[in-house]
Amino acid sequence: MHQNHQTEVVPFRIERVANSRLQEVDFPTVAFGSVFSDHMFAAEFHDGAWSDGRIRPYGPIPIAPSASALHYGISVFEGMKAHRAADGRLLLFRPRENARRFQRSAARLAMPVVPESLFLDGLRELIRLDQAWIPPAEIGALYVRPVLFSTDPSLRVKPADRYQFIILTSPFGAYFSAPVDVLVSERYARAFPGGTGDIKPAGNYAAALLADQEAREAGFNSVLWLDAQERRYVEECGVMNVFFVLGEEVITPSLSGTILPGITRDSVITLLRDLGYRVREERISIDELVGGYERGELRECFGTGTAAIVTHVRRIRYKDRVLELPPVEERKVGVAVREKLLAVMTGREPDPHGWVENI
Ligand SMILES: *Cc1c(COP(=O)(O)O)cnc(C)c1O
Repeated sequence: MHQNHQTEVVPFRIERVANSRLQEVDFPTVAFGSVFSDHMFAAEFHDGAWSDGRIRPYGPIPIAPSASALHYGISVFEGMKAHRAADGRLLLFRPRENARRFQRSAARLAMPVVPESLFLDGLRELIRLDQAWIPPAEIGALYVRPVLFSTDPSLRVKPADRYQFIILTSPFGAYFSAPVDVLVSERYARAFPGGTGDIKPAGNYAAALLADQEAREAGFNSVLWLDAQERRYVEECGVMNVFFVLGEEVITPSLSGTILPGITRDSVITLLRDLGYRVREERISIDELVGGYERGELRECFGTGTAAIVTHVRRIRYKDRVLELPPVEERKVGVAVREKLLAVMTGREPDPHGWVENI
């Protein structure tokens, strides 16, 4: 009798670790980005095509000393989180947005784009395999770090022929980030029109390190960035998007090309509007903020990003002025939206915008 063979989806080749390192990890105390789960996902691009993805033990990879990523920074990354809901479901938050932003980042550096299916299937399969590494939602989350970099062994300055795409995952427990003091940088700029401020290349972070270090040496936690041309308009806060509560309105810089289109930023805008707040996306100058502060209308400032969701800003130093914002206990907007977003992400509350995906 003729037998009908069902076509099966070929899973990624998986090479498992002999011994898991999980028992060495204490979720509540693990520092962000310091411990990596047992496996990683990897695929290579060469001769104009992507190889099959593979999952193998997390560990060192061979790389030529001449690999162009090391010399020219041909490297882009993403950041996202997987949560374990109270009922045991494994949840991702808007992963397609990360897949698409990763493609935009790659295209801007003349790199091949990672197909959405390779990105999404790779990370789902990896998270499924290492699901024991996802802390319970009340403790933390699994940070997911996709990275794409060139491996051409060549010093010629040109788009590369060979690339590696890797996904790492890293459990972390510190959900709450303490309020921060920020220094407005008058010397350095993070992004400029026509540059790479609206994508996530490795080099953006390298270029911001000295400003960050000098801010720390001056007693601050981070930098508040102004625009590169006029040094007037507020752009971002460290590596987070920034929001201000001024009078009855919430304001965040519009996506002008020098602002990273944060997925947390977009989600926060939507949820604030759901909560009944008026949110404006537009340019805001540091002078307007100082003016608002003097009139007693600058009620809140907070940064947004995947890792901490919302980070409250306590003090802003600009030239010889210090804007001392109301204590976090008296704030409503940033506190409410953080709680709301976390509840949606972790499956505690309904997801009216269809942001959460079951793995
Ligand atoms: C990644 C990033 C953000 C935050 O983006 P999310 O998608 O919310 O994590 C903000 N600013 C910069 C510069 C970034 O690189």
